[in-house]
Amino acid sequence: MILPVLKYGHPVLRQKGVRIESITPEIQTLINDMKETMYAAKGVGLAAQQVGRALQLAIIDVTGVTDRPSTLRLHGQPADVAAFMPVVLINPQVKPAADPVTGPEGCLSFPEIYSEVSRPESVEVTALNEKGKKFQFQCGGLLARAVQHEADHLNGILFIDRMTLEKKTELKPELHALQASTKEALKMKVRV
Ligand code: ZN
Repeated sequence: MILPVLKYGHPVLRQKGVRIESITPEIQTLINDMKETMYAAKGVGLAAQQVGRALQLAIIDVTGVTDRPSTLRLHGQPADVAAFMPVVLINPQVKPAADPVTGPEGCLSFPEIYSEVSRPESVEVTALNEKGKKFQFQCGGLLARAVQHEADHLNGILFIDRMTLEKKTELKPELHALQASTKEALKMKVRV
């Protein structure tokens, strides 16, 4: 089922996700719905907060982007990125493994808003997969950026928090308008 993607201004986007202790049928359904929702929205990643659930759960698939490379290492060996996608991250822990680089970023919760964001070029990740099994990998490029963007969501952090003050000031009118329309829509829902 395709779920509605919450927009900036919705309070759930600022909530830290609760750890997932077991992969229940309900979580499995949520994972499947999130995959369907991410592909329908043509996104590279989706966090549970973006569909209204404050949980430590995100999904990523970078294969739709051909002009921005990703690298992957599994057990210390180079591995095929496409074969690894989509990747489900449950309770992820992300450690920087290189210096920050600047790159373009967008977010399904911020339609039409893009910015350069500085993040470590590569990271080491430990998480549970959708079967509840622990796994580890190292990644770089777009995949590393996506992992960090999604891990931020799971902690209630949004990409606007990582922009330069200058960029955030420039985007202020758009951000205010988006926040106001989200809050207005929420109020209407409450009235109904
Ligand atoms: Zn996002």
